[in-house]
Amino acid sequence: MIEHWIGGERVRSAETFTDVSPIDGRVLTEVARGGATEAEHAVTAAKKAFPAWARTAKAERAEILHAIADGVEKRLEELAITETEDNGALLRSHRRGVMPRVAHNFRFFADWLVQLEHKDFDTRGHTNHVSWDPAGPCALITPWNAPLMLATWKIAPALAAGNTVVLKPAEWSPRTAALLAGITADAGLPDGVFNVVHGYGPEIGEPLVAHPDIRRVSFTGSVPTARRIAAAAAANLTPLSLELGGKSPLLIFADADLDLAVDLAVEQYDNAGQVCLAATRVLVEDSIAGEFTERFIAKASGLTQGDPRDEATDIGPNIHERQLAKIDGYVQRALGSGATAVIGGGPNEDLGGLYYRPTLLTNVAQDSEIVQEEVFGPVLTLQTFKTEDEAVAMANDTPYGLAATLATGDRDRADRVTKQLVAGTVWVNCFFVRDLRAPFGGARQSGIGREGGTWSFDFYCDLKNTVTAPKGWNDRG
Ligand code: NAD
Repeated sequence: MIEHWIGGERVRSAETFTDVSPIDGRVLTEVARGGATEAEHAVTAAKKAFPAWARTAKAERAEILHAIADGVEKRLEELAITETEDNGALLRSHRRGVMPRVAHNFRFFADWLVQLEHKDFDTRGHTNHVSWDPAGPCALITPWNAPLMLATWKIAPALAAGNTVVLKPAEWSPRTAALLAGITADAGLPDGVFNVVHGYGPEIGEPLVAHPDIRRVSFTGSVPTARRIAAAAAANLTPLSLELGGKSPLLIFADADLDLAVDLAVEQYDNAGQVCLAATRVLVEDSIAGEFTERFIAKASGLTQGDPRDEATDIGPNIHERQLAKIDGYVQRALGSGATAVIGGGPNEDLGGLYYRPTLLTNVAQDSEIVQEEVFGPVLTLQTFKTEDEAVAMANDTPYGLAATLATGDRDRADRVTKQLVAGTVWVNCFFVRDLRAPFGGARQSGIGREGGTWSFDFYCDLKNTVTAPKGWNDRG
C-alpha cells in the first residue's frame, strides 16, 4: 500500500486506486487516492516547516541534500527495479543512466547553492546586492515517463533554495516517490519539508495548485493539463514553470555522416517513444532519402522488443492501455489518410499487452495531425526537403518548440540553421546530452520558463536587490 507522506508521517485516504505494471498487467499495489483534504493537510505541513528550513544555513541544507543523494545511490537497484515495474522503461537505463542522475540532481543543486552569488555592483557609490530568498511551499506535479528523474529536477533546487515541497507524482507511476520520501527522512530532512501526495490530477493536483499558501507551481506534463493548471494558479497569480510536450524535428542533410544520422533516428524509439524531447519528425534531404530509409530499416529491424527487465531489450511496453489506444489511433488515422508504414504500423501481436511496434510513416502531409501533434509512442514520421530554407520552415512549423537535432557535416550550415530554429535545446550531431548547468525548457507550447543551474534558483526564489547607501551609518568616521 502506497500512502501519502505528510509532515513526516505516512497518511492513508479513505479511497485507493490500483497501480498496475505495464510489463504484464500485474497488480503492483493499492495507492491512497487523495483529494482536497489531503492537499490542504500537505500544504499546512509544508507551510509549518518552511520558516525553520528557510533559516537553515546553506551548508547544512547542502549536506542534507548530499545525504539524500547517498541514500539514492545506496538503494539504486531497488529504485531502478521499482521504476521499471511501474512505468515499463528499460531496467538497464534506470540502473546505469536514470538513477545515477537522480542522485546527481541532489548533488548538483547542493553544490550550486553553496557558490550561488551575484557580484555586487555600484550605482553612484551605492552598493547593489542581489540575494535569493526562498519563496515558500512549492507544488510540484510530475508525469510518468521518467518519474523520479523529472521530479528530482524540481525537488532538489526547490529544497536547496530553502523552500518546502508538496510533490504530486503521476498516478501511473507513484512508487519511487514513496521510496524517496523514506530516503529523505533517513537523510535527516526535517518533517514537513518534503511531502508527497497521491491521486488523480483533477482531484488532488488542482486543489494543490489553487491553494493560496503555495508560492510556486512547477509542472511537467501535457499541454491540456498545463492549461488547467495555469487557470488554477491564476486565482492567486502563483508563478508557474511549465515543461510540456514536443514534436521535435531531426534534420538530416546530405552532407551528414549517414551512419550517425541513422543512429540518431533509431535512438528516438528510446523509452518506447515516451520522451518529451524525442525527435519524432525525421526530415531528410531528398537526395539521400532512399539510402537513409534503407539503412534505417536495417538498423531498426535489429531492435529487440520485450520485457524491459531483460538487459537485451531495446524497446519495452507503453505505459497504459489508454496510451496504446491513443498511439494506435494516430497511426491508423494517418494510414487511413494515405500514409505508408515503412516499418511497424500497429501493436506487437506476438508480445500482446502494451507493446507497440516501432513505426516509421512516410507520405505524411505537413499539416496532418500525425506531423503536428505529439503521439508519445514509438512512432516517427519521415518527410523530405530539397533546400535548407525548406528544412527550417518544416522544422519550425508545429505549435511546439522543445528541441531540435541536426545531422550535418558542415559547421557553417549548423550555425545558420541553429540560429533559425525555434527550440529550447538544439543538438548538433548528437542527442540527449544534458548538463544541469544549461537551461532546459521549451518555446511556444512546449512550456514557460527554464530548469537548470541559476534558472532553477531564480524560479524557486523571490529575488531581492538590496541597495545600500554609503552614508547614514552611526559608526561613520
Ligand atoms: P499529464 O499532463 O496527463 O499528467 C501530468 C501530471 O499532471 C500527473 O501527475 C497528473 O496526475 C497531473 N494532472 C492531471 N490533471 C491535472 C489537473 N487538472 N491539475 C493538476 N494536476 C493534474 O501528462 P502525462 O501523460 O503524465 O505525461 C506526458 C506528457 O508530459 C507529454 O506531453 C510529455 O511531452 C510531457 N513531458 C514533458 C517533459 C519536459 O520536460 N518538457 C518531460 C516529460 C514529459
